[in-house]
Order: sequence, then structure tokens, then C-alpha cells
Amino acid sequence: MENIKENLENIRARIDAAAKRVNRDAKEITLVAVSKTKPIEMIEEAVLAGQTEFGENRVQELKEKHDHFGDRATFRQIGTLQTNKVKYLIGRASIIESVDSEALISEISRLAKKAGITQDILIQVNIGREMQKSGVMPEQLDALLDLASKAEGVRVIGLMAIPPKCEDPEESRPYFQKMYRLFIDIGAKNMDNIYMKVLSMGMTRDFEVAIEEGSTAVRVGTAIFGKRDYMI
Ligand SMILES: *Cc1c(COP(=O)(O)O)cnc(C)c1O
Repeated sequence: MENIKENLENIRARIDAAAKRVNRDAKEITLVAVSKTKPIEMIEEAVLAGQTEFGENRVQELKEKHDHFGDRATFRQIGTLQTNKVKYLIGRASIIESVDSEALISEISRLAKKAGITQDILIQVNIGREMQKSGVMPEQLDALLDLASKAEGVRVIGLMAIPPKCEDPEESRPYFQKMYRLFIDIGAKNMDNIYMKVLSMGMTRDFEVAIEEGSTAVRVGTAIFGKRDYMI
């Protein structure tokens, strides 16, 4: 059995230490507990230990968990998203982190307007240029941001990335550096409706390196809730 409270304390201490190494304030960094595939009871334990932000990658699961916890916890969509599933997320997902197409932006805009809300989103960047991976290619980012800046009901609040899988977290560093540069460059453009507040990068294996390179939100699952029973 995982001791979730202890795991959270341990991760928060590692976040503090990583921030300190590069003279950052750890308060700038959000710990997103990735609870995908994990039961309500385990999330409850995390909430009792003071954790409020969670990440899910299946729409149905996010819906159920959001509806269970109400305003005691927030859930972000971090997984690949199909256009026809957006309807379950509007009003439920605090942030949709995995937006990477015009079709998704249009659908989020349409449904958010209908619901009378503004949906916060991140644009996912395929920073490793991997064939099989979601995310917009870096050279297509400007065009997508341009479109998003005009989409009513949608507010871009940052970027998200998952670098290529590797053994050594140091191998992720150059990708995190590239993401940070994009984050700063886009922020400097001062585009309407585009805010570079959140840079979501870093997972169990490499979150400390991500923090050293400017991450403001780390998505940690395994180190909090233990191994997942099946790969999704
Ligand atoms: C599953 C997942 C995570 C968490 O991964 P761990 O290695 O368990 O920390 C982070 N981000 C995304 C997008 C995920 O799908």
C-alpha cells in the first residue's frame, strides 16, 4: 500500500529543493497529482493531505471524479482528447492541457460560449517531434495561437509538453529548455487572449529537471499513487 500523505510530503520537499537549486520560489510551482486509473478513495487520501489539483487523461474518469469531489478538488485534462468528448469537460476540467488542433479549439469555443464560461486551456507542443505523439509541432504553434487568440470562450494560459521517453532525466533537459524558450518568446509577443502563466512539464522521472528549467506545473502520478495497473 502506498502512503499517499508521505509520498506527497516527499514530492513537495523535492520540488522545494529543486526550486532552491535555481533560486526559484517553490510557490510558483503547482504540483498536479496525476490520479488517472486510481480510485476515489486514493484521491480522498490525497485531498485530506492537502492536495487539491489532480490530472486525468480519460474524459469519463474526469467527469466521474469531478462530480464526486465538487469544489473540494480540481481536475485537469492532460490526455489526448477527441473532439466529440469535449462536451463532458466543459464546466468540469479546470484546465484542458492537451489542446493541439484547430478542431479542438473550435469545439471548446463553441461549447464554452454555450455554457457561458471561459475555458482555460494549454497548448500541447510536440517538442520531441515524435510521429506517434500528440501536440502541435513547434513551427505550427504561432498559427494555432493566432486562431486561439480570436476564439471566444477560450483562454490560453500556457503550454504543455511531454518530452521523448528516456532512461536518464538529464536527456529531457534540452527539451525543457526549448519549451521554456517558446514560453518566454510567446509571452513577449503580448497577443490578445494569450497568457503565458503555466508551463506544464515534468513527470515522476524528470520533474526536478523540469523545475530547474522553468516548469510551473509538474504532473506527478506514480511517485504519489504508485504504479498503475495498466498502461494508458
Ligand atoms: C500519466 C501521465 C503523467 C504522470 O506520469 P508519472 O510517470 O506516473 O508521473 C503525466 N503527464 C501525462 C500527460 C500523463 O499522461
